[in-house]
Amino acid sequence: MNGIRPDSIQRLSRLMDDATRVSAVAHTHPDGDAVGSTAGILAYLAEKRGKDVAAVFSDSPADTLRFLIPEGVPYLFHDKEPGAALARLRESDLIILMDCNGFSRAEALESTLAGSHARKVLIDHHLDPETEAFDLAFSTPDISSASELLYQILMEMPDIGHDAARLPAATARALMAGMTTDTNNFANSVYPSTLRMASELLAAGVDRDTLLMELYNRYRENRVRVMGYLQHEAMRITPEGVAYIVATREILDRFDVREGETEGLVNVPLSIDAVKMSIFLKEADGCFRVSLRSKKGISAQRCAMTWFHGGGHENASGGKLCWPGDIACREEAAAYLEHVSRNFMP
Ligand code: 5GP
Ligand code: MN
Repeated sequence: MNGIRPDSIQRLSRLMDDATRVSAVAHTHPDGDAVGSTAGILAYLAEKRGKDVAAVFSDSPADTLRFLIPEGVPYLFHDKEPGAALARLRESDLIILMDCNGFSRAEALESTLAGSHARKVLIDHHLDPETEAFDLAFSTPDISSASELLYQILMEMPDIGHDAARLPAATARALMAGMTTDTNNFANSVYPSTLRMASELLAAGVDRDTLLMELYNRYRENRVRVMGYLQHEAMRITPEGVAYIVATREILDRFDVREGETEGLVNVPLSIDAVKMSIFLKEADGCFRVSLRSKKGISAQRCAMTWFHGGGHENASGGKLCWPGDIACREEAAAYLEHVSRNFMP
């Protein structure tokens, strides 16, 4: 039995019925769960409830995730068309925030979201949700993904009636994809409910072999080459058991790295017995984007909050490291990470 309250389902169903224009929003640097969960709910709202739907993201997802976007559902990216993205949010009467715990995680969309008169719903699985900003919040940290949480919610809807075969095909596939990527293909955050969902979606006809091919086997060659280079040339391991990799602008340019092409690299050093936490820094404009993964007993989330202005999940979190500010200049990143290792690790 899931912990979703029947009155919350009724309220969500009513909010959907009352809305004309619905927009789904997810976190910046959208991953498979962000694209999968938004695609999942929008395909449902379009097909089953006849709504005018769109997704609004602060920035574009990796090319390898675009196959999840359902046909006929507009996805507006603020980094590509800011006017249209913000206008869509202003015209919406229902906004559903997926896979992020508050408006600030949608970065460029934050002030428009906060100032919007639309009804707002949160469907998320991160720690520390900002539930007071929403008319209705579904927030469960003990679950694989926002996609799984949405699956459980949709199963409770009268028009689905616990029958996965009644989900639109695009919803079923997108939710399987979001759950698969957030669990790192069933390697972590897998609960009994996760396997039940996978089993029911398979029985309902989701082609998982094709999905895995799309998600994991359609990268460009340079992804494999830059990952090899960074592991061989850039990975350091501290005496306390923190592995870190700094991908500078020069390295990213040299290998012509695009969005999403280093996805998953942060997990690799955790396969080393002595490594308890892995930190990956990727240079962006005046900041490094930081990814953290930890083994049981070490909190990546607490480290991200304390040292990198971030957060996320207990063993998978993210944040930022900026200069000048956190460090005087870019070259000080390694020294900062060594300092974090000495001070944070037990
Ligand atoms: P990733 O390392 O895959 O980018 O992110 C890992 C997890 O941390 C994801 O659940 C993501 O939403 C979360 N996360 C990434 N960056 C940030 C951040 O800057 N702030 C917060 N609060 N969470 C983040
Ligand atoms: Mn997620």
